[in-house]
Amino acid sequence: MSDLQTTSHLFAFFNGKVVPIEKAQVNIQTNALQYGTGIFAGIRGYYNTNQGFISIFRLTDHFARFLNSLKIIGVSIEYSHKDLVELTLKLMKKNAPKTDTYIRPFAYAGSLQLSPNLERDNVFEFAEYMFPLGDYLPTYKGIKVCISSWRRISDNAIPSRAKICGSYINSALAKKEAVQNGFEEAIFLNEAGNVAEGSAMNLFIVRDNVLITSSKSDDILEGITRRTVIELASDLGFAIEERVVDRSELYIADEAFFCGTGAQIAWIKEIDHRKVGNGKRGKISGKLQDLFFRVVRGDVQEYETWCTKIKV
Ligand code: PMP
Repeated sequence: MSDLQTTSHLFAFFNGKVVPIEKAQVNIQTNALQYGTGIFAGIRGYYNTNQGFISIFRLTDHFARFLNSLKIIGVSIEYSHKDLVELTLKLMKKNAPKTDTYIRPFAYAGSLQLSPNLERDNVFEFAEYMFPLGDYLPTYKGIKVCISSWRRISDNAIPSRAKICGSYINSALAKKEAVQNGFEEAIFLNEAGNVAEGSAMNLFIVRDNVLITSSKSDDILEGITRRTVIELASDLGFAIEERVVDRSELYIADEAFFCGTGAQIAWIKEIDHRKVGNGKRGKISGKLQDLFFRVVRGDVQEYETWCTKIKV
Protein backbone atom coordinates (compact mmCIF):
# COMPACT_ATOMS: atom_id res chain seq x y z
CA MET A 1 0.00 0.00 0.00
CA SER A 2 1.39 3.44 -0.87
CA ASP A 3 1.88 6.12 1.79
CA LEU A 4 -0.91 8.13 0.20
CA GLN A 5 -3.36 5.24 0.43
CA THR A 6 -2.69 4.66 4.10
CA THR A 7 -3.20 8.31 4.99
CA SER A 8 -5.69 9.57 2.43
CA HIS A 9 -8.74 9.23 4.67
CA LEU A 10 -7.10 11.42 7.28
CA PHE A 11 -7.14 15.12 8.08
CA ALA A 12 -4.20 17.44 8.56
CA PHE A 13 -3.76 20.90 10.03
CA PHE A 14 -2.46 23.17 7.29
CA ASN A 15 -2.52 26.95 6.68
CA GLY A 16 -4.49 27.54 9.85
CA LYS A 17 -7.24 24.99 9.29
CA VAL A 18 -8.10 21.30 9.36
CA VAL A 19 -8.23 19.95 5.80
CA PRO A 20 -8.26 16.50 4.13
CA ILE A 21 -4.61 15.48 3.99
CA GLU A 22 -4.49 15.43 0.20
CA LYS A 23 -5.25 19.17 0.25
CA ALA A 24 -2.25 19.90 2.47
CA GLN A 25 0.26 20.61 -0.28
CA VAL A 26 3.09 23.09 -0.68
CA ASN A 27 4.59 24.78 -3.74
CA ILE A 28 7.78 23.11 -5.02
CA GLN A 29 9.59 26.44 -4.55
CA THR A 30 9.04 26.29 -0.78
CA ASN A 31 12.22 27.21 1.04
CA ALA A 32 11.94 24.33 3.52
CA LEU A 33 11.68 21.81 0.69
CA GLN A 34 14.79 23.21 -0.96
CA TYR A 35 16.96 23.61 2.14
CA GLY A 36 15.49 21.62 5.00
CA THR A 37 14.66 24.82 6.88
CA GLY A 38 12.12 23.31 9.21
CA ILE A 39 11.82 21.66 12.58
CA PHE A 40 9.55 18.83 13.65
CA ALA A 41 8.35 16.51 16.37
CA GLY A 42 7.31 12.87 16.40
CA ILE A 43 4.75 11.85 19.01
CA ARG A 44 2.99 8.55 19.57
CA GLY A 45 -0.59 7.89 20.51
CA TYR A 46 -1.43 4.38 21.74
CA TYR A 47 -4.94 3.10 21.16
CA ASN A 48 -6.69 1.33 24.01
CA THR A 49 -9.05 -1.13 22.32
CA ASN A 50 -11.10 -1.93 25.41
CA GLN A 51 -11.77 1.59 26.55
CA GLY A 52 -11.67 3.41 23.20
CA PHE A 53 -9.15 6.10 24.05
CA ILE A 54 -5.79 7.17 22.65
CA SER A 55 -3.02 7.71 25.16
CA ILE A 56 -0.70 10.39 23.75
CA PHE A 57 2.68 9.98 25.35
CA ARG A 58 4.39 13.05 26.83
CA LEU A 59 2.57 15.44 24.52
CA THR A 60 3.47 18.57 26.47
CA ASP A 61 7.16 17.57 26.65
CA HIS A 62 7.29 17.05 22.90
CA PHE A 63 5.89 20.54 22.29
CA ALA A 64 8.31 22.04 24.81
CA ARG A 65 11.21 20.56 22.79
CA PHE A 66 9.52 21.66 19.57
CA LEU A 67 9.47 25.28 20.75
CA ASN A 68 13.05 24.97 22.00
CA SER A 69 14.13 23.74 18.57
CA LEU A 70 12.59 26.89 17.06
CA LYS A 71 14.33 29.01 19.68
CA ILE A 72 17.70 27.42 18.93
CA ILE A 73 17.46 28.34 15.26
CA GLY A 74 16.05 31.75 16.17
CA VAL A 75 12.62 31.64 14.56
CA SER A 76 9.04 31.58 15.84
CA ILE A 77 5.54 30.42 14.95
CA GLU A 78 2.15 32.00 15.58
CA TYR A 79 1.08 29.32 18.06
CA SER A 80 1.74 29.02 21.78
CA HIS A 81 2.50 25.78 23.60
CA LYS A 82 -1.13 25.68 24.73
CA ASP A 83 -2.37 26.25 21.16
CA LEU A 84 -0.19 23.40 19.88
CA VAL A 85 -1.50 20.97 22.48
CA GLU A 86 -5.12 21.99 21.83
CA LEU A 87 -4.68 21.80 18.09
CA THR A 88 -3.26 18.30 18.33
CA LEU A 89 -6.17 17.11 20.46
CA LYS A 90 -8.62 18.65 18.02
CA LEU A 91 -6.95 16.93 15.07
CA MET A 92 -6.88 13.63 16.96
CA LYS A 93 -10.62 13.93 17.65
CA LYS A 94 -11.28 14.72 14.00
CA ASN A 95 -9.29 11.72 12.77
CA ALA A 96 -10.50 9.48 15.59
CA PRO A 97 -8.06 6.66 14.75
CA LYS A 98 -8.85 3.20 16.12
CA THR A 99 -5.20 2.21 16.08
CA ASP A 100 -1.77 3.24 17.37
CA THR A 101 -0.95 6.52 15.71
CA TYR A 102 2.11 8.63 14.98
CA ILE A 103 1.68 12.40 15.14
CA ARG A 104 3.94 14.65 13.11
CA PRO A 105 3.84 18.39 13.87
CA PHE A 106 6.27 20.54 11.94
CA ALA A 107 7.16 24.15 11.36
CA TYR A 108 8.83 25.32 8.20
CA ALA A 109 10.09 28.25 6.17
CA GLY A 110 7.20 28.69 3.76
CA SER A 111 8.57 31.48 1.60
CA LEU A 112 9.12 30.86 -2.12
CA GLN A 113 12.25 32.97 -2.29
CA LEU A 114 15.60 31.67 -3.36
CA SER A 115 18.34 31.03 -0.76
CA PRO A 116 18.14 29.86 2.83
CA ASN A 117 17.63 32.89 5.03
CA LEU A 118 16.31 32.53 8.56
CA GLU A 119 16.32 36.29 9.00
CA ARG A 120 13.83 36.76 6.18
CA ASP A 121 11.93 33.54 7.00
CA ASN A 122 11.82 34.17 10.72
CA VAL A 123 8.18 33.25 11.23
CA PHE A 124 7.65 29.63 10.24
CA GLU A 125 4.41 28.06 9.05
CA PHE A 126 2.96 25.32 11.23
CA ALA A 127 1.38 22.10 9.99
CA GLU A 128 0.52 18.73 11.48
CA TYR A 129 -0.63 15.32 10.31
CA MET A 130 -0.93 11.83 11.73
CA PHE A 131 -1.01 8.26 10.49
CA PRO A 132 -1.26 4.69 11.81
CA LEU A 133 2.07 3.28 12.97
CA GLY A 134 3.09 0.01 14.57
CA ASP A 135 6.69 -0.94 15.36
CA TYR A 136 9.28 1.10 13.51
CA LEU A 137 12.06 -1.24 14.58
CA PRO A 138 11.53 -4.81 15.77
CA THR A 139 11.19 -4.49 19.54
CA TYR A 140 11.20 -8.11 20.72
CA LYS A 141 13.54 -10.05 18.44
CA GLY A 142 16.87 -8.29 19.01
CA ILE A 143 18.44 -6.25 16.21
CA LYS A 144 21.85 -6.25 14.54
CA VAL A 145 23.58 -2.90 14.36
CA CYS A 146 26.87 -1.42 13.20
CA ILE A 147 28.98 1.62 13.95
CA SER A 148 28.39 4.06 11.12
CA SER A 149 31.24 5.43 9.04
CA TRP A 150 29.27 8.71 9.09
CA ARG A 151 29.77 10.99 12.09
CA ARG A 152 26.88 12.55 13.99
CA ILE A 153 26.40 16.23 13.12
CA SER A 154 28.03 18.41 15.72
CA ASP A 155 26.30 21.07 17.77
CA ASN A 156 28.25 23.86 16.07
CA ALA A 157 27.40 22.65 12.58
CA ILE A 158 23.66 21.89 12.85
CA PRO A 159 22.54 21.96 16.51
CA SER A 160 21.99 18.30 17.30
CA ARG A 161 19.67 18.90 20.26
CA ALA A 162 17.19 20.63 17.95
CA LYS A 163 15.02 18.45 15.73
CA ILE A 164 15.87 20.18 12.47
CA CYS A 165 14.55 18.77 9.18
CA GLY A 166 17.75 19.28 7.19
CA SER A 167 19.86 17.41 9.72
CA TYR A 168 18.06 14.17 8.89
CA ILE A 169 20.21 13.66 5.79
CA ASN A 170 22.80 12.66 8.40
CA SER A 171 20.41 10.00 9.75
CA ALA A 172 19.46 8.83 6.27
CA LEU A 173 23.09 8.31 5.26
CA ALA A 174 23.81 6.22 8.33
CA LYS A 175 20.65 4.14 7.93
CA LYS A 176 21.31 3.51 4.24
CA GLU A 177 24.85 2.36 4.86
CA ALA A 178 23.74 0.07 7.71
CA VAL A 179 20.95 -1.56 5.70
CA GLN A 180 23.15 -1.95 2.60
CA ASN A 181 25.65 -3.78 4.76
CA GLY A 182 23.04 -6.16 6.18
CA PHE A 183 22.39 -4.44 9.54
CA GLU A 184 19.10 -3.09 10.83
CA GLU A 185 20.39 0.11 12.38
CA ALA A 186 23.47 2.26 12.86
CA ILE A 187 25.21 3.85 15.81
CA PHE A 188 26.82 7.22 15.26
CA LEU A 189 30.07 8.33 16.83
CA ASN A 190 30.43 12.10 17.13
CA GLU A 191 33.32 14.12 15.70
CA ALA A 192 35.31 13.48 18.88
CA GLY A 193 34.92 9.74 18.31
CA ASN A 194 32.58 9.17 21.25
CA VAL A 195 29.39 7.17 20.99
CA ALA A 196 26.46 9.49 20.24
CA GLU A 197 23.22 7.68 19.31
CA GLY A 198 21.37 5.73 16.62
CA SER A 199 20.18 7.19 13.32
CA ALA A 200 16.97 8.48 14.96
CA MET A 201 17.05 7.08 18.49
CA ASN A 202 19.11 7.21 21.65
CA LEU A 203 21.25 4.35 22.90
CA PHE A 204 21.71 2.71 26.29
CA ILE A 205 24.12 -0.03 27.28
CA VAL A 206 24.40 -2.00 30.51
CA ARG A 207 27.75 -2.88 32.03
CA ASP A 208 27.98 -4.64 35.40
CA ASN A 209 24.36 -3.76 36.20
CA VAL A 210 24.88 -0.06 35.51
CA LEU A 211 22.76 1.58 32.84
CA ILE A 212 24.93 3.88 30.72
CA THR A 213 24.01 6.44 28.08
CA SER A 214 25.90 9.18 26.24
CA SER A 215 25.80 12.58 27.86
CA LYS A 216 23.69 15.44 26.55
CA SER A 217 26.89 17.11 25.37
CA ASP A 218 27.82 14.31 22.98
CA ASP A 219 25.83 15.69 20.04
CA ILE A 220 22.67 13.72 20.68
CA LEU A 221 19.06 14.73 20.34
CA GLU A 222 17.85 15.00 23.93
CA GLY A 223 15.28 12.26 23.56
CA ILE A 224 12.07 12.28 25.54
CA THR A 225 12.15 8.48 25.60
CA ARG A 226 15.76 8.66 26.85
CA ARG A 227 14.53 10.85 29.70
CA THR A 228 11.65 8.44 30.29
CA VAL A 229 14.03 5.46 30.49
CA ILE A 230 16.24 7.32 32.97
CA GLU A 231 13.21 8.17 35.13
CA LEU A 232 11.81 4.62 35.03
CA ALA A 233 15.24 3.08 35.69
CA SER A 234 15.85 5.36 38.62
CA ASP A 235 12.40 4.51 40.07
CA LEU A 236 13.28 0.82 39.67
CA GLY A 237 16.48 1.48 41.62
CA PHE A 238 19.01 0.90 38.82
CA ALA A 239 22.30 2.82 38.81
CA ILE A 240 22.54 5.17 35.82
CA GLU A 241 25.49 6.99 34.27
CA GLU A 242 25.16 9.76 31.69
CA ARG A 243 28.71 10.16 30.43
CA VAL A 244 31.14 9.83 27.54
CA VAL A 245 30.84 6.33 26.10
CA ASP A 246 33.72 4.77 24.14
CA ARG A 247 33.19 2.63 21.07
CA SER A 248 34.94 -0.36 22.61
CA GLU A 249 32.54 -0.31 25.57
CA LEU A 250 29.80 -1.26 23.12
CA TYR A 251 31.68 -4.44 22.23
CA ILE A 252 31.82 -5.65 25.82
CA ALA A 253 28.41 -4.43 27.00
CA ASP A 254 26.18 -6.97 28.77
CA GLU A 255 23.06 -5.42 27.24
CA ALA A 256 22.19 -2.68 24.76
CA PHE A 257 19.00 -1.08 23.50
CA PHE A 258 17.78 1.83 21.44
CA CYS A 259 14.99 4.11 22.56
CA GLY A 260 12.93 6.78 20.88
CA THR A 261 9.37 7.65 20.01
CA GLY A 262 9.59 5.73 16.75
CA ALA A 263 11.92 2.99 18.02
CA GLN A 264 10.16 2.70 21.42
CA ILE A 265 12.53 0.33 23.26
CA ALA A 266 14.28 -2.05 20.88
CA TRP A 267 16.97 -4.33 22.26
CA ILE A 268 20.15 -5.02 20.37
CA LYS A 269 21.64 -8.48 19.96
CA GLU A 270 24.75 -7.71 17.92
CA ILE A 271 27.03 -4.72 17.41
CA ASP A 272 29.58 -4.91 14.57
CA HIS A 273 29.19 -8.73 14.52
CA ARG A 274 29.95 -9.01 18.24
CA LYS A 275 27.23 -10.62 20.31
CA VAL A 276 25.85 -8.33 23.04
CA GLY A 277 25.95 -10.32 26.29
CA ASN A 278 24.55 -13.76 25.54
CA GLY A 279 22.68 -12.48 22.47
CA LYS A 280 19.35 -12.63 24.32
CA ARG A 281 17.17 -9.84 25.74
CA GLY A 282 18.97 -8.68 28.89
CA LYS A 283 17.41 -8.59 32.36
CA ILE A 284 17.51 -4.82 32.79
CA SER A 285 16.47 -4.10 29.18
CA GLY A 286 13.61 -6.57 29.59
CA LYS A 287 12.33 -5.00 32.80
CA LEU A 288 12.47 -1.51 31.32
CA GLN A 289 10.91 -2.60 28.05
CA ASP A 290 7.99 -4.38 29.73
CA LEU A 291 7.31 -1.44 32.03
CA PHE A 292 7.69 1.10 29.21
CA PHE A 293 5.05 -0.55 27.02
CA ARG A 294 2.55 -0.51 29.89
CA VAL A 295 3.39 3.06 30.82
CA VAL A 296 2.93 4.53 27.31
CA ARG A 297 -0.50 2.91 27.03
CA GLY A 298 -1.55 4.65 30.22
CA ASP A 299 -1.79 1.37 32.15
CA VAL A 300 0.44 2.34 35.10
CA GLN A 301 -1.22 4.74 37.48
CA GLU A 302 2.08 6.11 38.81
CA TYR A 303 3.01 7.45 35.37
CA GLU A 304 -0.44 8.41 34.11
CA THR A 305 0.44 12.09 34.13
CA TRP A 306 2.69 11.42 31.10
CA CYS A 307 -0.33 10.25 29.12
CA THR A 308 -2.94 12.54 27.62
CA LYS A 309 -5.95 10.28 27.23
CA ILE A 310 -8.46 11.28 24.61
CA LYS A 311 -11.65 9.44 23.77
CA VAL A 312 -11.87 8.73 20.03
N1 PMP B 1 17.75 10.96 18.30
C1 PMP B 1 17.30 11.35 17.10
C2 PMP B 1 18.26 11.85 16.09
C3 PMP B 1 15.92 11.27 16.82
O1 PMP B 1 15.46 11.64 15.63
C4 PMP B 1 15.05 10.79 17.80
C5 PMP B 1 13.58 10.67 17.51
N2 PMP B 1 12.90 11.83 17.83
C6 PMP B 1 15.57 10.42 19.06
C7 PMP B 1 16.93 10.52 19.27
C8 PMP B 1 14.68 9.98 20.17
O2 PMP B 1 13.98 11.08 20.67
P1 PMP B 1 12.52 10.92 21.33
O3 PMP B 1 12.66 9.90 22.36
O4 PMP B 1 12.22 12.26 21.86
O5 PMP B 1 11.61 10.50 20.24
